[in-house]
Amino acid sequence: MNDTNANWDEERDLVVAGTGVAALSAAITAADAGLSVLVLESTDRWGGSSAMSGGGLWLPNNALMQRDGVGDSREEALDYLEATVGEAGPAASRERKEAFVDGVAGFVDLAERHGVRFARATDYPDYYPELPGGKIGRAVEVEPFDVHRIGEWWQTSRGQDGVPAPVKTDDFWLLSRAWSTPSGLVRGAQVVFRVLGTLARRQQCVGMGAAVTASLLDVALRLGVQVRLSSPVEELIVEDGRVAGVRTTTGGLTRRIRATRGVVLGGGGFDHNAEWRERYQGVDGTASSGSRGNLGTAIEVAQGIGAAVDLMDDAWWGGSVPAVSPGGSAAFMVSERSMPFSLIVDAGGERFANESESYVDLGHHMLARAETVPGTCWMITDARHARRYLRSYALDPRAVKAMTEAGVLVKAPTLADLAVRIGVDARRLARTVERFNGFCRSGVDADFGRGNSAYDRYYGDPLVRPNPNLGPLEKGPFTAVQVVPGDLGTKGGLVTDACARVLRDDGTVIDGLYAAGNNSASVMGRTYPGPGSTLGPAAVFGHLAARHAATH
Ligand SMILES: Cc1cc2nc3c(=O)[nH]c(=O)nc-3n(C[C@H](O)[C@H](O)[C@H](O)COP(=O)(O)OP(=O)(O)OC[C@H]3O[C@@H](n4cnc5c(N)ncnc54)[C@H](O)[C@@H]3O)c2cc1C
Repeated sequence: MNDTNANWDEERDLVVAGTGVAALSAAITAADAGLSVLVLESTDRWGGSSAMSGGGLWLPNNALMQRDGVGDSREEALDYLEATVGEAGPAASRERKEAFVDGVAGFVDLAERHGVRFARATDYPDYYPELPGGKIGRAVEVEPFDVHRIGEWWQTSRGQDGVPAPVKTDDFWLLSRAWSTPSGLVRGAQVVFRVLGTLARRQQCVGMGAAVTASLLDVALRLGVQVRLSSPVEELIVEDGRVAGVRTTTGGLTRRIRATRGVVLGGGGFDHNAEWRERYQGVDGTASSGSRGNLGTAIEVAQGIGAAVDLMDDAWWGGSVPAVSPGGSAAFMVSERSMPFSLIVDAGGERFANESESYVDLGHHMLARAETVPGTCWMITDARHARRYLRSYALDPRAVKAMTEAGVLVKAPTLADLAVRIGVDARRLARTVERFNGFCRSGVDADFGRGNSAYDRYYGDPLVRPNPNLGPLEKGPFTAVQVVPGDLGTKGGLVTDACARVLRDDGTVIDGLYAAGNNSASVMGRTYPGPGSTLGPAAVFGHLAARHAATH
């Protein structure tokens, strides 16, 4: 809105929308530079999807790798981004890829200077490690964090919905086979000792996304950043062609807040905006694992003053087990579908993809398959899959009962019975399984190459040979669980430049307005190059936005 005579109620140097990693990174960068910062969160809980996440940040050529003597370089990182992301419109331009890679050092240095304790996920491969510039061990996470340090703020963190223990993203690949492999068992024991250690020290430690957001919030609060919940950014106020502030409403009171250095939008994606999801993507968003508060309103306010958007048809897709209760959350699958003794078929009983591939690729393949073979996809597992591996969707016996009653999870003594119960042609399924079992014996998936990549094998079982991702379906009872194209959030949004400034359709800059994270169209284009490909760029572009605002 153009308003040359706004009556301001408050004034700050920088106003930030949202409380996820993009927003908190911007807030601490600005406060570190001496700016006064107000953070506005639309919901009554802070942290967004970031707080609920695995907390991995893909940060190529980072200082931790350099300290550990793990080879990486700007050139290799950029080669890899070109090989994976390639051409994907203005959000993924060469300049933005370079800005991301070059911005990693500044974000890590600033966060570490203020006490954030990063750790490397040393064994986690890039998702296409065999492509030029691909590596293993580029992702970082934050060490388990004692939430006593942020006092009552923990009570309103969305991280409370996650794993309430000091578990790290680097633990998961081993915990997923904790009771069936020696290395899994050792890691399981280490996690138990870690939990006991924190209890003995009277700490309440959390890991993953809860730890990332809590440690960034801790820094923000120590630097004097003010955080206001239940205060959505509802409008951008423009003065003399420049974004000069925002309108927000808190507890029924509307306020106009001047932002002399600009406004950073870190309001996430439009994960749960059913109308937009239908319009742009043909899904309703009910299978999204993203935060409930991500409704796209911060994208909408910027569109209202002429901002361009891109990649709105895409998301951080992944196969998910649908929620069975209204308002419940879908279970996003990572390791389960990659482990041996399992395969995924379409409604016709045919495999259509490498089940161990990255979640975004599987999501794209599921959406494409639905165009020719509409209907439900199923993951079919043999008894050994259930006995040996951790299945996130089946941890709670009450959830299993509800899924069984809803027909989302179906069990049968033979594959033929199972086919009848899930409405798949039994002869076709038998043929698919027979062919698949042959691949398991030879160790070569001649149809989709499952297990060829180091990424596939990361979530595999090293005791299963010759291919750790391929185990035959032979032993009943067999289980079928529904798989739908869910997501970790959307990845389309405002088009921004290398400094995270929001652009118009004609490429010109909207002065005073920045965006980062899922509020902006992703530098990763239509792919997911490595673990943490949403949080890494969210942190870096949040940092670059605030640095630009502080210095211009
Ligand atoms: C279960 C799960 C696991 C995941 N694991 C990983 C992982 O390990 N690595 C990775 O890279 N990604 C992961 N993701 C994805 C990642 O969490 C998100 O892509 C990322 O958190 C987006 O960060 P953000 O800062 O853009 O938005 P968010 O963290 O979602 O924060 C946006 C915030 O803005 C608020 N908001 C919305 N509109 C407004 C408004 N108008 N005014 C003010 N505030 C507003 C929202 O309520 C929300 O709190 C995971 C996601 C999920 C759900």
